Amino acid sequence: MLPPLPVADELTRPFWEAARKGQLVIQRCQESGRWFHPPRPLCTCCVSSDLAFEPVSGRGTVYTFVVMRDRRVRGFQDRVPYVNVWVELEEQPFLTIVANLVDAEPKEARIGMPVEVTFERLTEDVALPQFRPRR
Ligand SMILES: [Zn+2]
Repeated sequence: MLPPLPVADELTRPFWEAARKGQLVIQRCQESGRWFHPPRPLCTCCVSSDLAFEPVSGRGTVYTFVVMRDRRVRGFQDRVPYVNVWVELEEQPFLTIVANLVDAEPKEARIGMPVEVTFERLTEDVALPQFRPRR
């Protein structure tokens, strides 16, 4: 069973369209250079509305994580145990993205673990950015 699929809206559509093509893009203020995720309508640093999506390296470190063992969440029954991670991207301190840790055993998860993005294709039109250990 598939997990729930993300539904793009006006703000998040460029993120999901890039993910479908296997690219991680993050919203960036064109005035102050600050990165934001999840996307927002205004820069909280300089209040500019000139925000655009730019490619990022896809590299980061695990800021925190939780091992999910609950089989009651529909669409995730077949995946437990799996690791939900907050990844701090290398582009900016506290620029975090929530995803799953893949290509690793739950016991391998560590705060500070170097990771890189990879894409999990759920359907022809939807791919999820996920993270795997950088070895
Ligand atoms: Zn700004």
